[in-house]
Amino acid sequence: MPLDAAPAPTTAKPKSAPKSGPQKAMEKLGLRRDIDLALHLPLRYEDETRVTPIAQARDGDTVQCEGVVVDCRVELRARRQLVVRMADDGAELVLRFLNFYPSHQKSLAQGQRVRVRGEIRHGFFGREMVHPAFKAVTEDTPLASALTPVYPASAGLPQAYLRKAVGAALARAPLAEVLPADCVPGRLPSLREALQVLHHPPPQAALAALEDHSHPAWQRLKFEELLAQQISQLQAQRERAQLQAPALRGQRGGLHEQLLLALPFALTGAQQRVCEEIAQDLARPQPMHRLLQGDVGSGKTVVAALAATVAIDAGWQCALMAPTEILAEQHFRKLVGWLEPLGIQVAWLTGSVKGKARQKMLDAAASGAAQLVIGTHAVIEDKVQFARLGLAIIDEQHRFGVAQRLALRKKLASQALEPHLLMMSATPIPRTLAMTYFADLDVSTINELPPGRTPIVTKVFADSKRLEVIARIGDEVAQGRQVYWVCPLIEESESLDLANATETHAELSAALQALHPGVMVGLLHSRMPPTEKAAVMSLFSQGQMQVLVSTTVIEVGVDVPNASLMVIEHAERFGLSQLHQLRGRVGRGAVASVCVLLYTGPLSLTGKSRLKAMAETHDGFEIARRDLEIRGPGEFMGARQSGAELLRFADLQEDAPLLKAARQQAPRLLDQHPEAARQHVMRWLGSKVEFLKA
Ligand code: ADP
Ligand code: MG
Repeated sequence: MPLDAAPAPTTAKPKSAPKSGPQKAMEKLGLRRDIDLALHLPLRYEDETRVTPIAQARDGDTVQCEGVVVDCRVELRARRQLVVRMADDGAELVLRFLNFYPSHQKSLAQGQRVRVRGEIRHGFFGREMVHPAFKAVTEDTPLASALTPVYPASAGLPQAYLRKAVGAALARAPLAEVLPADCVPGRLPSLREALQVLHHPPPQAALAALEDHSHPAWQRLKFEELLAQQISQLQAQRERAQLQAPALRGQRGGLHEQLLLALPFALTGAQQRVCEEIAQDLARPQPMHRLLQGDVGSGKTVVAALAATVAIDAGWQCALMAPTEILAEQHFRKLVGWLEPLGIQVAWLTGSVKGKARQKMLDAAASGAAQLVIGTHAVIEDKVQFARLGLAIIDEQHRFGVAQRLALRKKLASQALEPHLLMMSATPIPRTLAMTYFADLDVSTINELPPGRTPIVTKVFADSKRLEVIARIGDEVAQGRQVYWVCPLIEESESLDLANATETHAELSAALQALHPGVMVGLLHSRMPPTEKAAVMSLFSQGQMQVLVSTTVIEVGVDVPNASLMVIEHAERFGLSQLHQLRGRVGRGAVASVCVLLYTGPLSLTGKSRLKAMAETHDGFEIARRDLEIRGPGEFMGARQSGAELLRFADLQEDAPLLKAARQQAPRLLDQHPEAARQHVMRWLGSKVEFLKA
C-alpha cells in the first residue's frame, strides 16, 4: 500500500514550472506533501457562519454583521480616514479605515450590501468597527457552512491561499484508519473525522475546546503523535537488544582498582553508584546506551576514565570525544595524568593533528596499540579505524549530531558488533522528556557535588554598573584570583562577535593595567587557530594570565579552580542552560565565587525570567526544568538533538494521560499488529525514524 509518507509532492507543480511566491512560502513552512498540509492545523477560527443583527452586537464581541451602506466619505478627524456608515434594520454601524485605497471606497459605495467582520466598540459615534474584514454581498450570498480556520502562515502566504491548499490536500491525503479501534482511548474520533473537524468545524462546534486543544479531535491527533513516538522508541529498544557487543569486565586488582587507589580524592557516593551502573552494562553482551548526567562540576570525567579502564582491562579500546579542541585537550591532559602511570597508551586525535603525527595516531588506533583515543569529531571520521573499539564516550553529547553518534556505533561493524556507548551531559534532561525522547536510553545521574565546594553567589546588574564591576575584577586580581569575562554571541554575526570581544578586551586591559601594572588580560575566541587558543588556555589555567575575555568558547568543561569571578556581558542574550554551564566554570575550588550577570535593558519577559532563575537557583535540574518551561521541548533539546520537530501537538505535561495510554498501547500494537504499527510510524515520522534511534 502506498504510504502517505512517500516523498510525492502532490501539491507541487511540474519541476520546470517556476513556483509561485505562496507556493515557495508554503514549502518553507515544510508544507510539501498532502499529509503535511492536512496536519497543518488552525491557530484559531473565525465565525462567518452567522450574522449578528447590528442592534444585538455587544461591545467587545467579534461578530459578523450585514447591512447596506448609507454613507461613505473620507473625513479628517484626528487624521484622514474613511468613514462608512451602514445600517441593518434601522440600527447603524460605523466602519473606520485609517489606511485605505480607492478600491475600498468603490466596494463600500452607498447602496452596496456588505458583510463585515470585526470587533464591536462603542465609540464616540456609536457602534463602530475599526478595520473590519468586509465583502460585498447580495441578499442571497450564502453564509459559511463551517467556522473559518486561521492558519499559522508567514509573509507572502495569504490565508485564503493556504485555506484552499489545505482544503484540497485534506481531500486527497490518504487518511484511512491505520490503528485498530480498540487501541484508541476513550471515544475519540477517527483521524479523518478529527482532521475534518479541526480544519472545518461545524457552526455548533465547541470553539473554546478547539482553541485550547482539549477537543476530542485534538486529543486524537495528540494521541496519534505520542503513539508514533512511543512505538518508534520501543522498536529501537528492541532492535538494540538484538545487537551484540563485547562483554567488558574489569579484572580484580586490575586497572580500575589501580586508578581508584591512585586518585587524589575518594569518589562521592553518587560517582560510585553511577560507576557501578556503567560497569554492569559493560559486562553485558548487548551495547550499552547510557546517558550520564550530572551538573557542571559534579565529576563526570573521572567516571569516564574509570569506565575506560574497564574496557581496556578487558582488552578492548576506548574512544573519548569532546565537542571542542579545548575541552578535548583538557580531557587528554587529565586522563594522561591518571592513566599513563598505569601503563595505558593514550592517543590524541583532532582535526589539527596533521601529516606524520596524524598517520602515527591512525596506525596506533588501527593496530590497537592506542588503548584510549581522545579527540574531537575527528575520531569518528571514516578514515579512523579501530582494531577493537569496545567503548565510545561522548562528552557534552548534546553538542554532537545524531549522525555522529550513529557513525560511532558503526565502528565495529566489521566484527558484527556495536561498541558500548556512554554519553555525558551537564544539561540534565527532565524526567518527562527523558521518558518520551529517550525511552531507549538508560540514564545515570550524579546528584551530588564533590565535597568542599563553596556555593556561587549570582548577582544581576544593569550594564550601567560596568565600572564598578571592573573595579571588582581589580580586587580579585589583587588577591591572586582569576576572572572570566564572557562576551555574548551576536546571532549570525561572528565578525561582530569578535569585534565586540576585542573591544571589551582592550577596555579591560586598559582599565586593569591602570590598577595593577603587569596584569595579563587574555582574549579567546572561536576564530583563533587551535594552537593559539591552546596557548591562551594554558596561560590561564597555569595562573600566569589573570583575566580571560572570551566568547562562548569556554562554555564547556574548562576547569580552573582558582577562577573565582565570572562576568557575563549581555547575559540576556544567552539561554538558561548556557548561562548555567558558563557559571559552572567558577566555584570549582574552595574560594567563595561570584557570577555577575550584566544585562542591557529593556529586558524581554523571557530575558527577565531567565535572569531571575539564574539568581534564584544553582540546581542544574531546577534550571533545566525552568528552561524547558521557558523554551518548550523542541528548542530545549536543540535543533540537532531533535533532528526535527518531535512533538508538534502534544504537551508532555498537559497530555500526561494520553502519553500514558500511548505507552500502554505501543507494545501491544508492535506485538499484535506490527503492520499497523509500521504504517502508523511512517505516517507520522517518515524519515525521522532513523534519527529517533540514534
Ligand atoms: P564535570 O562533571 O563538569 O565534567 P569534572 O569532571 O571536570 O566535572 O570535575 C570537576 C572537578 O572536580 C575536577 O577538578 C575533578 O578532578 C574534581 N573531582 C571530581 N570528583 C571528585 C571527588 N570525588 N572529590 C573531589 N574532587 C573531585
Ligand atoms: Mg566535563
